[in-house]
Amino acid sequence: MTALGPHTALVTGGSRGIGRAVVERLAADGARVATCGRGSRPGDLPDDVLWVRADVSDPDQAARLVATTRGELGPVSLLVNNAGVQVERTVADSTDDDWDLVVGTNCRGTFHTCRAVLPDMAGTGGVIVNIGSISGETADPSMALYNASKAFVHALTRSIAVDHGPAVRCNAILPGWIRTEMADDAFALADDPAAARADAVARHPTGRLGEPADIAATVAWLASDDAAFVTGQCVTVDGGLTAASPLRPGLT
Ligand code: NDP
Repeated sequence: MTALGPHTALVTGGSRGIGRAVVERLAADGARVATCGRGSRPGDLPDDVLWVRADVSDPDQAARLVATTRGELGPVSLLVNNAGVQVERTVADSTDDDWDLVVGTNCRGTFHTCRAVLPDMAGTGGVIVNIGSISGETADPSMALYNASKAFVHALTRSIAVDHGPAVRCNAILPGWIRTEMADDAFALADDPAAARADAVARHPTGRLGEPADIAATVAWLASDDAAFVTGQCVTVDGGLTAASPLRPGLT
C-alpha cells in the first residue's frame, strides 16, 4: 500500500496548473481522487479521476461537489483547496465584480468546501491543505484583492486547525512563482515580459521558478502521516524567493 492509499481526496480546480499536478500526484500515490472546475471535464484528465463541474464560489455547488464525491468515492478524508483566481488591480481601480470574483472563489470557495467536509472529518479524521500564496504575506503591487484574499486563507487555516483538531489537521501552502497560466498572465502585464521573467528567476536561490509538481509534493507530504505533528501552519514553497533581502546588490 502506498503512503496515501487510504485517502479519498477532493482537489478543487484540477483542470490545469497546480491543481492538475496535485490530482496526478495523489492518484499516483494511491488515493481516490475527485476534482472540479467551472467547465466541462478536461479531455486529458486521467479516467480514474472523478470530475464534478462546480463553481466553488456558489455554496450550493460546493455542497453538491462534496456530496457527489462522498457518494461516488466515499467521505472526503483529504481536501485540497486549490481553485483560485487573480485580478491585477489596486483598491482604487477594483470593481464590485472584481470583489465578487476574487473573494467569491478564493475566500468563500475555500470556506464553503471546508464547511462541507468537516462533519465527516470530525468523525473519522481528515486533512485539509489550502493553497495560499506568498502574496498573502507581502503585497504584490496592483494585486490588492488577491493579496487580501490569500491572507484570509492563511487565517482560516489556523482557525480550522485550532477549532477542529485533533480530528482534523489543516495547513496552508504558500507558493511563490510557479510556472502556470496564472503566472504567465502576471508576467504578461510587465512592459518587458521576458525581462521580468529573467529578473524573477535571478531572485530565486534555487535558480529557477517553481513547477506545479513542487507544490504537489508538498501536498503529498502534508497529507501523509509524516506530517502528523504539523497543523495550523503556512508552509512557504518559493525556492527561497522571500528569504532574500530586496536590497541585494545588482538586483535593485
Ligand atoms: P490556474 O489559473 O492555472 O488554475 C486555476 C484552477 O482553478 C483552474 O483549474 C480553474 O478551472 C479553477 N477555478 C478557478 N475558479 C474556480 C471556481 N470558482 N470554482 C472551481 N474551480 C475554479 O492557477 P494556478 O494553477 O497557477 O494556481 C492554483 C492555485 O495556486 C491558486 O489558488 C493560486 O492563487 C495559487 N498560487 C499560484 C501561484 C503561481 O505562481 N501560479 C503562486 C501562488 C499561489 P476553471 O477556470 O475551469 O474553473
